[in-house]
Amino acid sequence: MQNSHLMGNYGTRALTLVRGQGSRVWDDQGKDYLDAVAGLAVCGLGHCHPAVTEALVNQAASLVHCSNLFNIPWQKELGDRLSRISGLEKAFFCNSGTEANEAAIKLCRLFGHSQNIESPQILVCEGAFHGRSLGALSATWGSKARNGFAPLLEGFAHIPYGDIKAIEQFSTENTVAVMLEPIQGEAGVVIPPPGYLKALRAICDTHGWLLVLDEIQTGNARTGSYFAFQQMGVTPDILTTAKGLGNGLPIGACLATAEIAELLVPGTHGTTFGGNPLVSRVACAVIDSIEKEDLCTRATELGAWILKSLQQELKDIAQVVEIRGRGMMLAIELSGPCADLVAIAAEAGLIINVTGGNRIRLLPPLTLSDSEAQLLVETLCPIIKNWEPS
Ligand code: PLP
Repeated sequence: MQNSHLMGNYGTRALTLVRGQGSRVWDDQGKDYLDAVAGLAVCGLGHCHPAVTEALVNQAASLVHCSNLFNIPWQKELGDRLSRISGLEKAFFCNSGTEANEAAIKLCRLFGHSQNIESPQILVCEGAFHGRSLGALSATWGSKARNGFAPLLEGFAHIPYGDIKAIEQFSTENTVAVMLEPIQGEAGVVIPPPGYLKALRAICDTHGWLLVLDEIQTGNARTGSYFAFQQMGVTPDILTTAKGLGNGLPIGACLATAEIAELLVPGTHGTTFGGNPLVSRVACAVIDSIEKEDLCTRATELGAWILKSLQQELKDIAQVVEIRGRGMMLAIELSGPCADLVAIAAEAGLIINVTGGNRIRLLPPLTLSDSEAQLLVETLCPIIKNWEPS
């Protein structure tokens, strides 16, 4: 398909997907694929889940949009649900993960100013991905995303991810927060050492800093608990999520403690579309389905099975550096650039993602069946065995 009037930022797009059902998608030639990335951690319930479709259709027939100048009962419902799950009292809704992080960054700055710090600094991590708006990009790591966009925002310092000792070295008297992903997604499913988040929380408490967790990718049951932080023995002050929250509808959320949320007074932040009746009702249906279908347990158990199966099947393969994962967020790190595997896997009827050049990332729907999980392993392993570093 010619994309002649579209900007080139997505490069060449090889496939044209026209239909999806559960963990399957179909292209415009009628070929079907097992979708092992779920729209990059978006369709956790699978494609066209009946509860999502029902919420979408019903709400589309009653009220799609309503300005945030008015009460939006489904937005309130969603805030209640996310607050119950996260323990954070207040929610702000927007349209993407990036915007959720912008809200979080602005809250950190307001917090700093409330402490009479004129140039608040946020510690962020090497390897981090927080989005591509100028604020979120300034928190993001890596020349690929950042090059050409200077001047970026000041007030961020990148620290090595997973290295608790590095914190003191990079912090200043202006530090007000540490912002990070509990498991780094775009970096290739990088899991910090056990106890890292707990130690970070303790440092934040000692210094009066905020702990901000970006669960855009890890949230919504992806790693086996509703939020990844729930497995790590900490509670953040600010939490962002998006992706799986709308199962394909654009929604992001920034959650905060009541104390921090109070810093946003009328007129200080807002959005036209965020938290509209349509997306809010769909997100409520997503949360209900995650709970009703016990998808946290499913993600834990099936994710562990996939991880073990890949590790067993690929244990003697020299070009495999590491296979890691938590729940249904998995990566196979290879010894060289392997972006070509995306097309090879698609040819075999499997949709995968390669990130960081040499990391195959798997983010299958949480509703993946046992036989689909088996098919995933059986299709992917021979492809990796046949691959040679260039
Ligand atoms: N934060 C994390 C951890 C992400 O993985 C992403 C997207 O991949 C974002 C933020 C940006 O979210 P969005 O693309 O919805 O703006």
